[in-house]
Amino acid sequence: MTVSQSVSARTYDAVVVGGGHNGLTAAAYLARAGLATLVLERREIVGGACVTEEIAPGCRASTTSYIASMLRPEVIRDLELARHGLRMVPCDPALLVPFPDGQTLAWWCDPARTVGELERISPADARTFVRLHEELKRLARYLQPFFLEAPPDVEARGLAGLRETLRVRSRFRGISGAEIARLVSFLTGSLGDFLDRNYESEKVKTLLLANNVYGKHGGPYTPGSALGLLFHLLSGGEQAQQGFYGHVIGGMGAITAAMASAAREHGAQIRTSAPVARIEVGGGRARGVLLEDGTAVAARIVVSNVDPKRTFLGLLEPETLPEEFLRAVHGIKMDGPCAKVNLVLSEEPRVTGMPRGFTASQRALFTLVPSLRFAEECYDIAKSGGIPEKLWVDCVVASNVDETLAPAGRHVMTCFVQYVPYRLKWGTWDDRRDLLGDRVLRTIAEYAPNVPSSVVARQVLTPIDLERIYGLTEGNIFHGDLCLEQLFFMRPVAGWARYRTPVPGLYLCGAGTHPGGGVTGAPGHNAARQILRDLRRRAA
Ligand SMILES: Cc1cc2nc3c(=O)[nH]c(=O)nc-3n(C[C@H](O)[C@H](O)[C@H](O)COP(=O)(O)OP(=O)(O)OC[C@H]3O[C@@H](n4cnc5c(N)ncnc54)[C@H](O)[C@@H]3O)c2cc1C
Repeated sequence: MTVSQSVSARTYDAVVVGGGHNGLTAAAYLARAGLATLVLERREIVGGACVTEEIAPGCRASTTSYIASMLRPEVIRDLELARHGLRMVPCDPALLVPFPDGQTLAWWCDPARTVGELERISPADARTFVRLHEELKRLARYLQPFFLEAPPDVEARGLAGLRETLRVRSRFRGISGAEIARLVSFLTGSLGDFLDRNYESEKVKTLLLANNVYGKHGGPYTPGSALGLLFHLLSGGEQAQQGFYGHVIGGMGAITAAMASAAREHGAQIRTSAPVARIEVGGGRARGVLLEDGTAVAARIVVSNVDPKRTFLGLLEPETLPEEFLRAVHGIKMDGPCAKVNLVLSEEPRVTGMPRGFTASQRALFTLVPSLRFAEECYDIAKSGGIPEKLWVDCVVASNVDETLAPAGRHVMTCFVQYVPYRLKWGTWDDRRDLLGDRVLRTIAEYAPNVPSSVVARQVLTPIDLERIYGLTEGNIFHGDLCLEQLFFMRPVAGWARYRTPVPGLYLCGAGTHPGGGVTGAPGHNAARQILRDLRRRAA
Protein backbone atom coordinates (compact mmCIF):
# COMPACT_ATOMS: atom_id res chain seq x y z
CA MET A 1 0.00 0.00 0.00
CA THR A 2 1.38 3.42 -0.78
CA VAL A 3 0.66 6.12 1.72
CA SER A 4 0.17 9.58 0.34
CA GLN A 5 2.61 11.98 1.94
CA SER A 6 1.53 15.21 3.57
CA VAL A 7 3.87 17.76 5.05
CA SER A 8 3.31 19.36 8.42
CA ALA A 9 3.17 23.12 7.93
CA ARG A 10 5.59 23.84 10.71
CA THR A 11 9.29 23.14 11.24
CA TYR A 12 10.05 22.28 14.85
CA ASP A 13 13.29 22.90 16.68
CA ALA A 14 13.03 19.41 18.16
CA VAL A 15 10.90 16.37 17.46
CA VAL A 16 10.94 13.72 20.19
CA VAL A 17 10.11 10.21 18.96
CA GLY A 18 8.31 8.40 21.78
CA GLY A 19 6.43 9.75 24.78
CA GLY A 20 7.91 7.53 27.48
CA HIS A 21 8.94 9.24 30.71
CA ASN A 22 12.39 10.05 29.31
CA GLY A 23 10.99 11.49 26.08
CA LEU A 24 8.61 13.66 28.10
CA THR A 25 11.40 14.75 30.42
CA ALA A 26 13.64 15.70 27.51
CA ALA A 27 10.75 17.52 25.81
CA ALA A 28 9.93 19.47 28.97
CA TYR A 29 13.53 20.63 29.41
CA LEU A 30 13.88 21.53 25.71
CA ALA A 31 10.58 23.43 25.66
CA ARG A 32 11.53 25.18 28.89
CA ALA A 33 14.67 26.40 27.12
CA GLY A 34 12.49 27.92 24.40
CA LEU A 35 12.70 25.24 21.70
CA ALA A 36 9.58 24.56 19.62
CA THR A 37 9.17 20.91 20.61
CA LEU A 38 6.84 18.16 19.41
CA VAL A 39 6.49 14.70 21.01
CA LEU A 40 5.18 11.89 18.79
CA GLU A 41 3.95 8.78 20.63
CA ARG A 42 2.80 5.65 18.79
CA ARG A 43 0.36 4.51 21.49
CA GLU A 44 -2.92 6.19 22.32
CA ILE A 45 -1.49 7.26 25.69
CA VAL A 46 1.84 8.71 26.74
CA GLY A 47 4.06 7.10 29.35
CA GLY A 48 5.70 4.12 27.64
CA ALA A 49 6.58 1.68 30.43
CA CYS A 50 5.38 4.13 33.08
CA VAL A 51 1.60 4.11 32.77
CA THR A 52 -1.65 3.44 34.63
CA GLU A 53 -4.22 1.51 32.58
CA GLU A 54 -7.66 0.07 33.18
CA ILE A 55 -7.40 -3.73 33.36
CA ALA A 56 -11.05 -4.39 34.32
CA PRO A 57 -14.02 -2.05 34.55
CA GLY A 58 -13.20 0.62 37.14
CA CYS A 59 -9.89 -1.06 38.11
CA ARG A 60 -6.62 0.61 37.17
CA ALA A 61 -3.12 -0.76 37.53
CA SER A 62 0.47 0.26 36.93
CA THR A 63 0.62 -2.29 34.15
CA THR A 64 4.41 -2.19 33.67
CA SER A 65 6.64 -0.32 36.16
CA TYR A 66 5.04 -0.25 39.58
CA ILE A 67 7.35 1.33 42.20
CA ALA A 68 9.11 4.70 41.98
CA SER A 69 12.50 4.30 43.56
CA MET A 70 15.02 6.21 41.52
CA LEU A 71 13.09 9.13 40.02
CA ARG A 72 15.64 11.90 40.25
CA PRO A 73 14.78 14.54 42.85
CA GLU A 74 16.25 17.20 40.54
CA VAL A 75 13.79 16.26 37.78
CA ILE A 76 10.89 16.32 40.25
CA ARG A 77 11.89 19.81 41.34
CA ASP A 78 12.90 21.30 37.96
CA LEU A 79 9.69 20.21 36.28
CA GLU A 80 7.60 20.97 39.39
CA LEU A 81 6.00 17.56 39.14
CA ALA A 82 4.26 17.93 42.50
CA ARG A 83 2.47 21.04 41.22
CA HIS A 84 1.50 18.98 38.17
CA GLY A 85 -0.17 16.39 40.40
CA LEU A 86 2.56 13.92 41.36
CA ARG A 87 2.20 12.47 44.84
CA MET A 88 4.34 9.63 46.18
CA VAL A 89 4.19 7.95 49.55
CA PRO A 90 7.15 5.97 50.86
CA CYS A 91 6.72 2.19 50.87
CA ASP A 92 7.08 1.22 54.51
CA PRO A 93 8.16 -1.52 54.72
CA ALA A 94 10.10 -1.08 51.49
CA LEU A 95 10.27 -4.84 51.27
CA LEU A 96 8.69 -7.81 52.96
CA VAL A 97 9.68 -11.40 52.32
CA PRO A 98 7.39 -14.17 53.54
CA PHE A 99 9.14 -17.54 53.84
CA PRO A 100 7.63 -20.99 53.20
CA ASP A 101 7.78 -21.73 56.97
CA GLY A 102 5.43 -18.82 57.72
CA GLN A 103 8.06 -16.40 59.02
CA THR A 104 8.26 -12.93 57.45
CA LEU A 105 11.14 -10.47 57.30
CA ALA A 106 10.71 -6.78 56.52
CA TRP A 107 12.96 -3.89 55.52
CA TRP A 108 11.65 -0.71 57.11
CA CYS A 109 12.32 2.95 56.34
CA ASP A 110 13.59 3.26 59.90
CA PRO A 111 16.94 1.39 59.90
CA ALA A 112 16.63 0.67 63.63
CA ARG A 113 13.39 -1.21 63.02
CA THR A 114 15.04 -3.28 60.25
CA VAL A 115 17.91 -4.10 62.58
CA GLY A 116 15.34 -5.20 65.17
CA GLU A 117 13.85 -7.60 62.61
CA LEU A 118 17.25 -9.03 61.73
CA GLU A 119 18.17 -9.48 65.40
CA ARG A 120 15.26 -11.89 65.77
CA ILE A 121 16.99 -14.12 63.24
CA SER A 122 20.69 -13.51 63.69
CA PRO A 123 22.25 -10.91 66.02
CA ALA A 124 25.55 -11.29 64.14
CA ASP A 125 23.83 -10.50 60.82
CA ALA A 126 22.08 -7.51 62.38
CA ARG A 127 25.48 -6.10 63.37
CA THR A 128 26.90 -6.82 59.91
CA PHE A 129 23.89 -5.13 58.31
CA VAL A 130 24.50 -1.92 60.27
CA ARG A 131 28.18 -1.88 59.33
CA LEU A 132 27.70 -2.72 55.65
CA HIS A 133 24.64 -0.56 55.07
CA GLU A 134 26.56 2.57 56.11
CA GLU A 135 29.49 1.55 53.94
CA LEU A 136 27.24 0.85 50.95
CA LYS A 137 25.53 4.21 51.37
CA ARG A 138 28.93 5.91 51.41
CA LEU A 139 30.03 4.10 48.24
CA ALA A 140 26.72 4.85 46.47
CA ARG A 141 27.35 8.55 47.07
CA TYR A 142 30.46 8.40 44.82
CA LEU A 143 28.34 7.07 41.94
CA GLN A 144 25.40 9.39 42.56
CA PRO A 145 26.72 12.47 40.64
CA PHE A 146 27.26 10.39 37.49
CA PHE A 147 23.54 9.78 37.28
CA LEU A 148 22.69 13.28 36.17
CA GLU A 149 25.65 13.94 33.93
CA ALA A 150 27.10 12.43 30.79
CA PRO A 151 29.39 9.46 31.43
CA PRO A 152 33.16 10.00 31.31
CA ASP A 153 34.29 10.94 27.79
CA VAL A 154 37.12 8.49 27.20
CA GLU A 155 37.73 9.93 23.72
CA ALA A 156 38.46 13.48 24.94
CA ARG A 157 41.98 14.66 24.24
CA GLY A 158 44.06 17.78 24.97
CA LEU A 159 42.38 20.42 27.12
CA ALA A 160 39.02 18.66 26.89
CA GLY A 161 40.66 15.44 28.06
CA LEU A 162 42.22 17.22 31.01
CA ARG A 163 38.87 18.79 31.95
CA GLU A 164 37.24 15.38 31.77
CA THR A 165 39.91 13.79 33.96
CA LEU A 166 39.48 16.54 36.53
CA ARG A 167 35.69 16.14 36.48
CA VAL A 168 35.87 12.40 37.10
CA ARG A 169 38.55 12.81 39.75
CA SER A 170 36.48 15.43 41.56
CA ARG A 171 33.62 12.92 41.84
CA PHE A 172 35.92 10.55 43.72
CA ARG A 173 37.53 13.20 45.91
CA GLY A 174 38.49 11.72 49.25
CA ILE A 175 38.00 8.09 48.22
CA SER A 176 40.38 5.70 49.97
CA GLY A 177 42.25 2.79 48.40
CA ALA A 178 40.03 0.38 50.32
CA GLU A 179 36.92 2.08 48.98
CA ILE A 180 38.20 1.84 45.40
CA ALA A 181 38.71 -1.89 45.93
CA ARG A 182 35.17 -2.20 47.31
CA LEU A 183 33.69 -0.27 44.40
CA VAL A 184 35.48 -2.48 41.87
CA SER A 185 34.29 -5.58 43.68
CA PHE A 186 30.69 -4.32 43.55
CA LEU A 187 31.01 -3.57 39.85
CA THR A 188 32.43 -6.97 39.02
CA GLY A 189 31.49 -9.36 41.83
CA SER A 190 28.34 -11.36 42.44
CA LEU A 191 25.66 -10.50 44.95
CA GLY A 192 25.53 -14.13 46.09
CA ASP A 193 29.25 -14.27 46.86
CA PHE A 194 29.04 -10.93 48.69
CA LEU A 195 26.15 -12.14 50.83
CA ASP A 196 27.72 -15.54 51.54
CA ARG A 197 30.93 -13.82 52.62
CA ASN A 198 29.21 -11.48 55.02
CA TYR A 199 26.00 -13.03 56.36
CA GLU A 200 25.19 -16.33 58.03
CA SER A 201 21.39 -16.53 57.84
CA GLU A 202 19.84 -17.65 54.53
CA LYS A 203 16.76 -15.57 55.35
CA VAL A 204 18.75 -12.38 55.84
CA LYS A 205 20.58 -13.04 52.58
CA THR A 206 17.25 -13.57 50.83
CA LEU A 207 15.89 -10.26 52.12
CA LEU A 208 18.92 -8.51 50.63
CA LEU A 209 18.52 -10.44 47.39
CA ALA A 210 14.84 -9.48 47.13
CA ASN A 211 15.90 -5.85 46.84
CA ASN A 212 18.16 -6.48 43.89
CA VAL A 213 18.88 -7.95 40.44
CA TYR A 214 15.47 -6.84 39.12
CA GLY A 215 14.97 -7.07 35.38
CA LYS A 216 18.60 -7.88 34.74
CA HIS A 217 20.12 -10.94 33.20
CA GLY A 218 21.84 -13.20 35.65
CA GLY A 219 21.13 -14.99 38.86
CA PRO A 220 22.51 -13.89 42.22
CA TYR A 221 25.81 -15.65 41.52
CA THR A 222 26.39 -13.95 38.15
CA PRO A 223 29.44 -11.61 38.19
CA GLY A 224 28.33 -7.97 38.28
CA SER A 225 25.08 -8.67 40.13
CA ALA A 226 26.38 -6.97 43.30
CA LEU A 227 26.08 -3.57 41.61
CA GLY A 228 22.33 -3.53 42.30
CA LEU A 229 23.13 -3.07 46.01
CA LEU A 230 24.62 0.34 45.22
CA PHE A 231 22.08 1.34 42.55
CA HIS A 232 19.24 0.96 45.00
CA LEU A 233 20.93 3.24 47.49
CA LEU A 234 20.97 6.20 45.14
CA SER A 235 18.73 8.87 46.49
CA GLY A 236 15.19 9.22 45.17
CA GLY A 237 11.86 10.87 45.90
CA GLU A 238 11.28 14.57 46.39
CA GLN A 239 13.35 14.65 49.57
CA ALA A 240 16.32 12.85 47.94
CA GLN A 241 16.31 10.01 50.48
CA GLN A 242 18.88 7.27 49.94
CA GLY A 243 17.13 3.99 49.20
CA PHE A 244 13.71 5.63 48.66
CA TYR A 245 10.86 3.33 47.51
CA GLY A 246 7.60 5.03 46.66
CA HIS A 247 4.00 4.16 45.85
CA VAL A 248 2.68 6.65 43.34
CA ILE A 249 -0.87 7.80 44.01
CA GLY A 250 -2.85 7.20 40.82
CA GLY A 251 -0.32 4.60 39.69
CA MET A 252 2.93 5.13 37.78
CA GLY A 253 0.99 6.89 35.02
CA ALA A 254 0.64 9.83 37.40
CA ILE A 255 4.39 10.43 36.94
CA THR A 256 4.12 10.66 33.17
CA ALA A 257 0.85 12.62 33.34
CA ALA A 258 2.68 15.20 35.48
CA MET A 259 5.64 15.22 33.07
CA ALA A 260 3.36 15.68 30.06
CA SER A 261 1.55 18.51 31.84
CA ALA A 262 4.88 20.19 32.65
CA ALA A 263 6.07 19.79 29.04
CA ARG A 264 2.82 21.28 27.70
CA GLU A 265 2.99 24.17 30.15
CA HIS A 266 6.43 25.01 28.75
CA GLY A 267 4.95 24.99 25.26
CA ALA A 268 5.67 21.46 23.99
CA GLN A 269 3.06 19.79 21.79
CA ILE A 270 2.29 16.12 22.36
CA ARG A 271 0.60 13.90 19.79
CA THR A 272 -0.50 10.35 20.60
CA SER A 273 -1.47 7.61 18.11
CA ALA A 274 1.33 9.03 15.97
CA PRO A 275 3.79 6.22 15.19
CA VAL A 276 6.96 7.32 13.47
CA ALA A 277 7.89 5.14 10.49
CA ARG A 278 11.25 6.70 9.67
CA ILE A 279 13.76 9.29 10.78
CA GLU A 280 14.57 11.41 7.74
CA VAL A 281 18.22 12.02 6.94
CA GLY A 282 19.30 14.44 4.24
CA GLY A 283 22.61 16.12 3.46
CA GLY A 284 24.25 14.00 6.14
CA ARG A 285 22.03 15.07 9.06
CA ALA A 286 18.63 14.37 10.62
CA ARG A 287 15.94 16.54 9.03
CA GLY A 288 12.76 15.33 10.72
CA VAL A 289 10.52 12.27 10.71
CA LEU A 290 7.96 10.54 8.56
CA LEU A 291 4.88 9.24 10.37
CA GLU A 292 3.22 5.95 9.47
CA ASP A 293 0.22 7.90 8.18
CA GLY A 294 2.49 9.59 5.66
CA THR A 295 2.86 12.96 7.40
CA ALA A 296 6.36 14.40 7.18
CA VAL A 297 7.47 16.58 10.10
CA ALA A 298 10.56 18.74 9.64
CA ALA A 299 12.83 19.49 12.60
CA ARG A 300 16.31 20.83 13.31
CA ILE A 301 16.88 18.11 15.89
CA VAL A 302 15.38 14.61 16.25
CA VAL A 303 15.49 13.05 19.71
CA SER A 304 14.69 9.34 19.97
CA ASN A 305 13.20 7.97 23.18
CA VAL A 306 12.92 4.63 21.42
CA ASP A 307 15.42 1.91 22.35
CA PRO A 308 18.70 1.87 20.41
CA LYS A 309 17.96 -1.30 18.41
CA ARG A 310 14.57 -0.01 17.27
CA THR A 311 15.97 3.45 16.53
CA PHE A 312 18.99 2.43 14.50
CA LEU A 313 17.81 -0.84 12.98
CA GLY A 314 14.14 0.10 12.54
CA LEU A 315 13.80 3.83 11.98
CA LEU A 316 16.91 4.63 9.92
CA GLU A 317 18.09 3.44 6.54
CA PRO A 318 21.18 1.26 7.17
CA GLU A 319 23.32 3.24 4.72
CA THR A 320 23.02 6.32 6.95
CA LEU A 321 25.11 4.60 9.64
CA PRO A 322 28.72 3.33 9.74
CA GLU A 323 28.96 -0.45 9.44
CA GLU A 324 30.95 -0.84 12.64
CA PHE A 325 28.34 1.12 14.58
CA LEU A 326 25.54 -1.04 13.14
CA ARG A 327 27.44 -4.17 14.18
CA ALA A 328 27.75 -2.83 17.73
CA VAL A 329 24.01 -2.02 17.85
CA HIS A 330 23.14 -5.52 16.61
CA GLY A 331 25.25 -6.85 19.48
CA ILE A 332 23.42 -5.02 22.30
CA LYS A 333 22.18 -7.63 24.77
CA MET A 334 18.44 -7.29 25.25
CA ASP A 335 16.22 -10.45 25.37
CA GLY A 336 14.44 -9.30 28.52
CA PRO A 337 14.19 -11.88 31.30
CA CYS A 338 10.94 -10.79 32.96
CA ALA A 339 7.17 -10.62 32.68
CA LYS A 340 4.27 -9.00 34.50
CA VAL A 341 0.94 -10.34 35.69
CA ASN A 342 -1.68 -7.81 36.79
CA LEU A 343 -4.64 -9.02 38.80
CA VAL A 344 -7.98 -7.74 40.02
CA LEU A 345 -9.06 -9.66 43.13
CA SER A 346 -12.31 -9.86 45.01
CA GLU A 347 -10.47 -10.01 48.34
CA GLU A 348 -7.14 -8.83 49.64
CA PRO A 349 -4.36 -11.46 49.57
CA ARG A 350 -3.96 -13.09 52.99
CA VAL A 351 -0.26 -13.83 53.24
CA THR A 352 0.57 -16.59 55.72
CA GLY A 353 2.59 -15.12 58.57
CA MET A 354 1.78 -11.47 57.75
CA PRO A 355 2.02 -9.94 61.23
CA ARG A 356 -1.32 -9.14 62.84
CA GLY A 357 -1.75 -5.46 63.40
CA PHE A 358 -0.10 -4.43 60.14
CA THR A 359 -2.04 -1.62 58.46
CA ALA A 360 -3.34 -1.97 54.89
CA SER A 361 -0.38 -0.02 53.51
CA GLN A 362 2.07 -2.16 55.50
CA ARG A 363 0.49 -5.21 53.87
CA ALA A 364 0.82 -3.68 50.40
CA LEU A 365 3.90 -5.46 49.17
CA PHE A 366 5.59 -8.81 49.48
CA THR A 367 8.30 -10.55 47.48
CA LEU A 368 8.18 -14.27 46.85
CA VAL A 369 11.70 -15.64 46.53
CA PRO A 370 12.56 -18.25 49.16
CA SER A 371 16.36 -18.38 48.76
CA LEU A 372 19.38 -17.46 46.67
CA ARG A 373 19.64 -21.03 45.43
CA PHE A 374 16.02 -20.90 44.24
CA ALA A 375 16.69 -17.68 42.31
CA GLU A 376 19.83 -19.11 40.73
CA GLU A 377 18.02 -22.24 39.58
CA CYS A 378 15.16 -20.16 38.24
CA TYR A 379 17.60 -18.15 36.10
CA ASP A 380 19.33 -21.30 34.88
CA ILE A 381 16.03 -22.67 33.58
CA ALA A 382 15.05 -19.40 31.91
CA LYS A 383 18.41 -18.80 30.27
CA SER A 384 18.06 -22.05 28.34
CA GLY A 385 14.55 -21.17 27.17
CA GLY A 386 12.37 -22.82 29.83
CA ILE A 387 9.60 -21.37 31.98
CA PRO A 388 10.38 -22.22 35.63
CA GLU A 389 7.61 -24.13 37.44
CA LYS A 390 7.98 -21.77 40.39
CA LEU A 391 8.90 -18.17 39.90
CA TRP A 392 10.32 -15.18 41.69
CA VAL A 393 7.31 -12.88 42.03
CA ASP A 394 7.28 -9.37 43.43
CA CYS A 395 3.73 -8.47 44.47
CA VAL A 396 2.26 -5.05 45.17
CA VAL A 397 -1.32 -4.68 46.30
CA ALA A 398 -1.49 -1.10 45.10
CA SER A 399 -5.14 -0.61 46.08
CA ASN A 400 -4.13 -1.04 49.73
CA VAL A 401 -2.35 2.31 49.50
CA ASP A 402 -4.43 4.06 46.88
CA GLU A 403 -8.17 3.55 46.92
CA THR A 404 -8.65 5.50 43.68
CA LEU A 405 -7.40 2.43 41.78
CA ALA A 406 -10.35 0.12 42.45
CA PRO A 407 -13.95 0.34 43.66
CA ALA A 408 -14.96 -1.08 47.06
CA GLY A 409 -14.73 -4.87 47.06
CA ARG A 410 -11.99 -4.97 44.43
CA HIS A 411 -8.22 -5.11 44.92
CA VAL A 412 -5.50 -4.46 42.37
CA MET A 413 -2.34 -6.52 42.67
CA THR A 414 0.59 -6.27 40.25
CA CYS A 415 3.12 -9.10 40.04
CA PHE A 416 6.56 -8.63 38.53
CA VAL A 417 7.93 -11.98 37.45
CA GLN A 418 11.46 -13.20 36.87
CA TYR A 419 13.05 -15.12 35.33
CA VAL A 420 11.47 -16.01 32.00
CA PRO A 421 13.09 -16.23 28.58
CA TYR A 422 12.34 -13.96 25.62
CA ARG A 423 13.09 -16.87 23.29
CA LEU A 424 11.30 -20.05 24.34
CA LYS A 425 12.87 -23.41 23.73
CA TRP A 426 9.46 -24.97 23.11
CA GLY A 427 6.37 -23.33 21.65
CA THR A 428 5.53 -19.65 21.42
CA TRP A 429 4.53 -17.09 24.03
CA ASP A 430 1.09 -16.87 22.43
CA ASP A 431 0.65 -20.57 23.32
CA ARG A 432 2.33 -20.30 26.71
CA ARG A 433 0.83 -17.06 28.05
CA ASP A 434 -1.81 -18.84 30.13
CA LEU A 435 0.69 -21.38 31.38
CA LEU A 436 2.83 -18.53 32.72
CA GLY A 437 -0.22 -16.91 34.36
CA ASP A 438 -1.14 -20.24 35.98
CA ARG A 439 2.39 -20.79 37.29
CA VAL A 440 2.49 -17.31 38.78
CA LEU A 441 -0.82 -17.92 40.56
CA ARG A 442 0.34 -21.32 41.80
CA THR A 443 3.49 -19.70 43.21
CA ILE A 444 1.45 -16.99 44.94
CA ALA A 445 -0.98 -19.59 46.33
CA GLU A 446 1.87 -21.18 48.32
CA TYR A 447 2.12 -17.96 50.35
CA ALA A 448 -1.37 -16.46 50.01
CA PRO A 449 -3.74 -19.39 49.47
CA ASN A 450 -6.84 -17.24 48.96
CA VAL A 451 -5.52 -15.51 45.83
CA PRO A 452 -6.33 -17.96 42.97
CA SER A 453 -10.01 -18.27 43.92
CA SER A 454 -10.42 -14.50 44.22
CA VAL A 455 -9.14 -13.59 40.74
CA VAL A 456 -11.69 -11.43 38.93
CA ALA A 457 -9.44 -10.37 36.04
CA ARG A 458 -5.93 -11.26 34.99
CA GLN A 459 -3.58 -9.67 32.50
CA VAL A 460 -0.45 -11.62 31.60
CA LEU A 461 2.30 -9.65 29.89
CA THR A 462 4.98 -12.00 28.57
CA PRO A 463 8.23 -10.62 27.10
CA ILE A 464 6.62 -10.70 23.65
CA ASP A 465 3.67 -8.64 24.94
CA LEU A 466 6.05 -6.09 26.44
CA GLU A 467 7.58 -5.84 22.98
CA ARG A 468 4.31 -5.67 21.03
CA ILE A 469 2.30 -3.39 23.32
CA TYR A 470 4.95 -1.15 24.86
CA GLY A 471 7.48 -1.19 22.03
CA LEU A 472 10.25 -2.66 24.20
CA THR A 473 12.54 -4.52 21.80
CA GLU A 474 12.92 -8.16 22.88
CA GLY A 475 10.83 -7.28 25.94
CA ASN A 476 13.81 -5.66 27.66
CA ILE A 477 12.45 -3.36 30.35
CA PHE A 478 15.66 -1.29 30.42
CA HIS A 479 16.20 -0.85 26.62
CA GLY A 480 19.29 -3.07 26.99
CA ASP A 481 20.60 -5.22 29.79
CA LEU A 482 22.24 -3.40 32.70
CA CYS A 483 25.43 -5.45 32.58
CA LEU A 484 28.79 -3.77 33.15
CA GLU A 485 29.82 -3.92 29.49
CA GLN A 486 26.66 -1.97 28.61
CA LEU A 487 26.97 0.76 31.25
CA PHE A 488 28.64 4.18 31.62
CA PHE A 489 30.67 5.11 28.54
CA MET A 490 29.59 1.87 26.84
CA ARG A 491 25.84 2.59 26.84
CA PRO A 492 24.30 2.11 24.32
CA VAL A 493 27.59 1.27 22.56
CA ALA A 494 31.20 2.28 23.13
CA GLY A 495 32.07 5.62 21.57
CA TRP A 496 28.45 6.88 21.48
CA ALA A 497 27.51 7.26 25.12
CA ARG A 498 26.85 10.99 25.19
CA TYR A 499 23.36 11.04 23.67
CA ARG A 500 24.74 11.98 20.23
CA THR A 501 24.67 9.47 17.37
CA PRO A 502 26.65 9.06 14.14
CA VAL A 503 23.89 11.08 12.40
CA PRO A 504 24.37 14.77 13.25
CA GLY A 505 21.15 16.26 14.61
CA LEU A 506 19.90 12.88 15.89
CA TYR A 507 20.08 12.21 19.64
CA LEU A 508 18.97 9.41 21.95
CA CYS A 509 17.24 10.17 25.25
CA GLY A 510 15.83 6.82 26.46
CA ALA A 511 16.75 4.14 28.95
CA GLY A 512 19.19 2.64 26.41
CA THR A 513 21.53 5.54 27.17
CA HIS A 514 23.49 6.41 30.33
CA PRO A 515 22.63 5.85 33.17
CA GLY A 516 20.14 3.24 31.99
CA GLY A 517 16.68 1.92 32.75
CA GLY A 518 14.20 2.44 35.52
CA VAL A 519 11.92 5.38 36.02
CA THR A 520 14.59 7.98 36.75
CA GLY A 521 14.17 10.75 34.17
CA ALA A 522 17.98 10.87 34.11
CA PRO A 523 18.59 9.94 30.43
CA GLY A 524 15.93 12.45 29.32
CA HIS A 525 17.42 15.17 31.52
CA ASN A 526 21.00 14.47 30.43
CA ALA A 527 20.13 14.26 26.73
CA ALA A 528 18.31 17.61 26.84
CA ARG A 529 21.31 19.20 28.53
CA GLN A 530 23.67 17.81 25.89
CA ILE A 531 21.41 19.05 23.07
CA LEU A 532 21.12 22.53 24.53
CA ARG A 533 24.89 22.70 24.99
CA ASP A 534 25.48 21.57 21.40
CA LEU A 535 22.96 24.12 20.12
CA ARG A 536 24.71 26.87 22.03
CA ARG A 537 28.02 25.81 20.51
CA ARG A 538 26.29 25.30 17.14
CA ALA A 539 27.51 21.71 17.22
CA ALA A 540 24.11 20.05 17.02
C1 LIG B 1 7.13 -4.89 33.47
C2 LIG B 1 8.03 -3.74 33.86
C3 LIG B 1 8.25 -3.46 35.21
C4 LIG B 1 9.10 -2.41 35.58
N1 LIG B 1 9.20 -2.07 36.91
C5 LIG B 1 9.86 -0.93 37.23
C6 LIG B 1 9.73 -0.37 38.54
O1 LIG B 1 8.95 -0.85 39.37
N2 LIG B 1 10.45 0.74 38.83
C7 LIG B 1 11.26 1.35 37.90
O2 LIG B 1 11.91 2.36 38.22
N3 LIG B 1 11.36 0.86 36.64
C8 LIG B 1 10.66 -0.24 36.28
N4 LIG B 1 10.67 -0.68 34.98
C9 LIG B 1 11.60 -0.07 34.02
C10 LIG B 1 11.12 1.28 33.51
O3 LIG B 1 9.73 1.31 33.41
C11 LIG B 1 11.71 1.59 32.13
O4 LIG B 1 13.10 1.33 32.10
C12 LIG B 1 11.46 3.05 31.75
O5 LIG B 1 10.11 3.37 31.94
C13 LIG B 1 11.88 3.33 30.32
O6 LIG B 1 11.52 4.66 30.03
P1 LIG B 1 11.85 5.35 28.64
O7 LIG B 1 11.13 6.63 28.61
O8 LIG B 1 13.32 5.41 28.43
O9 LIG B 1 11.29 4.35 27.53
P2 LIG B 1 9.83 3.81 27.28
O10 LIG B 1 9.01 3.92 28.47
O11 LIG B 1 10.01 2.47 26.66
O12 LIG B 1 9.25 4.81 26.20
C14 LIG B 1 9.52 4.72 24.83
C15 LIG B 1 8.28 5.21 24.09
O13 LIG B 1 8.53 5.21 22.69
C16 LIG B 1 7.34 4.82 22.05
N5 LIG B 1 7.66 4.40 20.68
C17 LIG B 1 8.31 3.27 20.29
N6 LIG B 1 8.43 3.25 18.95
C18 LIG B 1 7.86 4.39 18.49
C19 LIG B 1 7.65 4.94 17.19
N7 LIG B 1 8.08 4.30 16.09
N8 LIG B 1 7.00 6.12 17.06
C20 LIG B 1 6.55 6.79 18.17
N9 LIG B 1 6.71 6.30 19.42
C21 LIG B 1 7.37 5.13 19.58
C22 LIG B 1 6.81 3.71 22.93
O14 LIG B 1 5.45 3.45 22.68
C23 LIG B 1 7.07 4.30 24.30
O15 LIG B 1 5.99 5.09 24.74
C24 LIG B 1 9.78 -1.68 34.58
C25 LIG B 1 9.51 -1.93 33.23
C26 LIG B 1 8.64 -2.94 32.87
C27 LIG B 1 8.34 -3.18 31.40
